[in-house]
Amino acid sequence: MSSSVDVVVIGAGLSGLSAAYTIVKENSSANVVVLEATDNIGGPILSQTLRGANGEDVWDVGAGRIGTKQKEIMGLIQEFGLETYPHYNDGKKFWILTDGKIKKYSGNIPPLPYTSLVDMLRYFNKVDGLQGKVNVKDATATAKAEEWDNMTVEELKTKTLWTKGKKIKNLVIFLPFKQKGTIDIMTGLFFGGFRCDQLSVMQYLHLIATCGSWNSHIAAEGTGKIDVRIKIDFSIAIILSATILTLAQGGTRKLVDGLVSHIGQDKIITGSKVNSIEHQSNSAVVTTEAGKAYTAKCVIVACIPSANINFNPPLSIPRVLPGSGFGVQFVITYKKSFWREAGSCAEVMNTQGTMEMLQGKDDHPIVTLFDHTSPNDNPALMGIFGANLAMDKSMEERKQIALKFLKEIFETDETQNFLDYKDIAWKPYDRYPPIESLKETKPSEILSNMLKPEGVVHWAGARTGLAWADCLNGAVEAGQRSAKEVLKTHLN
Ligand SMILES: Cc1cc2nc3c(=O)[nH]c(=O)nc-3n(C[C@H](O)[C@H](O)[C@H](O)COP(=O)(O)OP(=O)(O)OC[C@H]3O[C@@H](n4cnc5c(N)ncnc54)[C@H](O)[C@@H]3O)c2cc1C
Repeated sequence: MSSSVDVVVIGAGLSGLSAAYTIVKENSSANVVVLEATDNIGGPILSQTLRGANGEDVWDVGAGRIGTKQKEIMGLIQEFGLETYPHYNDGKKFWILTDGKIKKYSGNIPPLPYTSLVDMLRYFNKVDGLQGKVNVKDATATAKAEEWDNMTVEELKTKTLWTKGKKIKNLVIFLPFKQKGTIDIMTGLFFGGFRCDQLSVMQYLHLIATCGSWNSHIAAEGTGKIDVRIKIDFSIAIILSATILTLAQGGTRKLVDGLVSHIGQDKIITGSKVNSIEHQSNSAVVTTEAGKAYTAKCVIVACIPSANINFNPPLSIPRVLPGSGFGVQFVITYKKSFWREAGSCAEVMNTQGTMEMLQGKDDHPIVTLFDHTSPNDNPALMGIFGANLAMDKSMEERKQIALKFLKEIFETDETQNFLDYKDIAWKPYDRYPPIESLKETKPSEILSNMLKPEGVVHWAGARTGLAWADCLNGAVEAGQRSAKEVLKTHLN
């Protein structure tokens, strides 16, 4: 069982699909095949039909939030004639403190003591300055690569933040509030549930740098030069990123459908787990678990190149860093938006739940909530479970947790009169290697190597994105980049 093609793309997530689409768009005679291990196309981009106030409607239950400044994905949306709509952001928000107290506030500045806000702003400014020094395309060429390879975010945090008793120029500064916890929470939320002591400063800054700045990292608006006062607004928005995102109208799934129809459904072969890649200087043989072999001029690996694929000869350099990829999200629909009627946009940031997630507990597992009303005016809320422990619960158990949480936040029985509830517990097929297994290799080297082709084998996947890595935009950008490499090197 053997076929001959020009390019084999491994993985039908957004990145693999973007790669295949770019190749066939630029070279219509190219023979491309996409091999996908599972029966699902599009990775965690999962739109679902739920009962809404005005009848059935479609919601993104999985990945779907995008930023208007994310040019690669916005370009694709435009190319396929899709529309976006702004996220609803008017009115009161909720902040759950680490002791469980719920505070309401308006605007973009969370209800924290002034000293805490100032300290956080100092930290954000520091990180913003440092990320600007990262060489995104070649992390090893970063002047401080060695120092940052060997420093954890925990150490950076301790060095930067004002903490009780820290000595500054012979003065011992005593501040009543410590912000270390807040940075832990942000890191946990934006870096796949990792603790600060698990992440190298190099990996941390590199990810932020792929977005161009701290604010861009969170897809905040106004990423140009801003004054300090405004910057408090924008910087604090890291926790409130839902406020500045837009959603692809009618479900991000439409983007996947658009890519599939241009590539050709028959070119995407699901249930085809790739077991091995034998690569020579000018061709490769890709073999699936079922024993089907594809001889190709080149290969694009658009999944995590970890132990699940056997490379022969073995890869000369490692190409994967710690990551997570797990996610549990729910959508709940209502007849009317009782939160908007009460003057709230339903945005919740649960620092208690996030802190517990980092400690491996899940007493308060919903870490964020926001308005997810559809463009057809069907009221809905979306929540994110932080703890991986939520993966092991049934959908019914998670629904009960969500209902209890909503009652506590909004203090009304209307929360219980929902129309429909659906959630996804997303487990990536291709797991990241355990964090301990990567201790021997310098993060800067891995980050540089992740982009470098190994002979005829090229690399895509959101993690290799040079623009908003690890996000939907990073997936598209990496797919397009790898396609351009292949078009130039193997298909011209
Ligand atoms: C629940 C959740 C919500 C998210 N929400 C957002 C969001 O709102 N906005 C945002 O920007 N980002 C979001 N993200 C992140 C974003 O979805 C991902 O970064 C992006 O979808 C990754 O795309 P990818 O193509 O690189 O990887 P994937 O989508 O993981 O695709 C890789 C594919 O390769 C396949 N594969 C693996 N091994 C093999 C093999 N050996 N042979 C064949 N196939 C294989 C896998 O089955 C998979 O389909 C979210 C992620 C999750 C999990």
